[in-house]
Amino acid sequence: MWGRLKACDRDTCLWAYWDASRNQARRWCSMAGCGSVIKTRRARRKAKDGDTGGHPSVRG
Ligand SMILES: [Zn+2]
Repeated sequence: MWGRLKACDRDTCLWAYWDASRNQARRWCSMAGCGSVIKTRRARRKAKDGDTGGHPSVRG
């Protein structure tokens, strides 16, 4: 019942937010804010490592 209070997935934010989505798939306090920041960051990293042939990353 009360397990929907989450912390934002953005390490520099960590705001608590209330996940009101039905499947609780939300991971950020603001999809337009932190969500877009993280997605952009990941997209850049992925593009940068795109020529490694898919080897596992050394650190997480
Ligand atoms: Zn956030």
